[in-house]
Amino acid sequence: MSDACDFRGLLERHQVRVTPLRLAVLEALGSASRAFRVREILAHIRRRRRVHKVTVYRILEDFSQRGFVRKIPVEGKAARFELACEHHPPHPHFQCRACGEVECLEPVPLEQVWQELRGPLGHRADRLEIRVAGLCRRCRRARGEP
Ligand SMILES: [Zn+2]
Ligand SMILES: [Zn+2]
Ligand SMILES: [Zn+2]
Repeated sequence: MSDACDFRGLLERHQVRVTPLRLAVLEALGSASRAFRVREILAHIRRRRRVHKVTVYRILEDFSQRGFVRKIPVEGKAARFELACEHHPPHPHFQCRACGEVECLEPVPLEQVWQELRGPLGHRADRLEIRVAGLCRRCRRARGEP
């Protein structure tokens, strides 16, 4: 869970200068265990400070290039972002093709693939992504599916 995250330490480990805004971006991402739209992250930060969207977007792109934030491409919509620290290992995502909602799934088997790639196989894995598309429960019900 994100309560375990030490954002200041995370930035320091990645040799990124600690600033209140960078911390605020990480706190927004850590406010729930899910993937966020940029506008949700903005709304979270703007409760306390004024910030330009482009600035936040740049920080998110920088963090995702450094590997401690994960950028999740979403078909037909803006990408989502989530924490990718040791508390948030890679996991599959489910996207509903009707409403576009993206849900994080349990990381169980993927974690093994990831460890194996980085360990015994000796490859250097930078990114692992599994995206599942379908129809979410709410949209299924709305269509009268049992
Ligand atoms: Zn963490
Ligand atoms: Zn849906
Ligand atoms: Zn996720």
